[in-house]
Amino acid sequence: MGSDRVRHDCSVLGSGWTGTNPLVFPLLKTGGRTFGFWKSRIDLSLASDLNSYALGIQMFGHFLFMLNILVWVTCLSLPLQGAPNPLRVGIIINERLPSIDEEQIKDILRHARKEANQVYSLNIEYTALTTHTMAGYFEPYREIVLNKHKIFQYALNIDGASIMDLQRALLIEYGQDSLESLLPFVRSALPELGDRNFTNKIDLMGALAELQVQKLSQLKAILLEDGQPLLGGDNLHQFMLWWFYLREQEDFDVIITNQLLASAETFHPEIHGAARGGVATGFAGPSYNRYGGAALVSLFPIISSLDFFESGRGGNYSSEEVVESASAILLHELLHLLRHEKHQWSHPHCIMNPTPGFRYREWAADIRKNGPCLEWHDPSPFLQRTFAQFRVFP
Ligand SMILES: [Zn+2]
Ligand SMILES: [Zn+2]
Repeated sequence: MGSDRVRHDCSVLGSGWTGTNPLVFPLLKTGGRTFGFWKSRIDLSLASDLNSYALGIQMFGHFLFMLNILVWVTCLSLPLQGAPNPLRVGIIINERLPSIDEEQIKDILRHARKEANQVYSLNIEYTALTTHTMAGYFEPYREIVLNKHKIFQYALNIDGASIMDLQRALLIEYGQDSLESLLPFVRSALPELGDRNFTNKIDLMGALAELQVQKLSQLKAILLEDGQPLLGGDNLHQFMLWWFYLREQEDFDVIITNQLLASAETFHPEIHGAARGGVATGFAGPSYNRYGGAALVSLFPIISSLDFFESGRGGNYSSEEVVESASAILLHELLHLLRHEKHQWSHPHCIMNPTPGFRYREWAADIRKNGPCLEWHDPSPFLQRTFAQFRVFP
């Protein structure tokens, strides 16, 4: 376990850590006060017995002060797991789409928990697990979400998706990132770019927006076995719908679904999603709970045997590969949710460097074989701010 991981623990646990260790600040205060008080007495008194008594107290002050430093050094040098983070899990099944059985989903959850504890010093526990159908759980929220949040002010209609609107939104989202920091990821996620040269972000985001709309059109043309389009009129594929579903519901901190999320929107667009044609395999968004947010994992791109996904992944996955891929995605989302970690586009073997394209299996295997990443991970100011606004103290 490298020092990077330790720094995460201290910064993440931050106020929580000091709050749960009432020893630290009283010690600092007591040591400082005692030291200061008796120092002034020593200066005033010439009596040697009082002086030695005062020195004794002074030494005690030093001792408390050093003890306090020791406690901090311990924090900086030992991985701390902190109290477990309780997570309520909801499995939401769209019966129109292929899925995996509940036991396999439990395997994904177990796998993610074990790795979170052992590799990332992130203590999580599942306190509830319930399975619902899409219609049974989210249908009542649909009207609220559509009317209150007006998702179509952000969601772009696939047919009429304006490449320029997407390009502009991507440019704003990645305003702080340099072309050099993004290019290697974009190239590995989009082999179809070949050796095309990019000298500025405007062209790069233009190419991404164009490819996203192109791939979305391919998805839109797909019909399922029941003759209905994969991206149906129910809009369940819209990322914005799920962003607000997550926000409205209060029952889950983690949602695992077989629903496909594939769309284009001007809100919070991501380059890895754009490279897949607007397909999101997961996200962490705001929600009224103890974390101020919830994490969602969409299994569809991992388990679908449609050509679009199968060729993107390089074949269908075995059940073990599904569990290994989906649990790494879940862990990535939990690090967004619980540590507010942001993406690290240039880190090798890093769980916060998103999956390039649909190669989940290779991405997860590389992190497990060559990781974990020991580089410094900045928190995301966007996630910090958003989750702070939604946090509800239990
Ligand atoms: Zn992410
Ligand atoms: Zn990293």
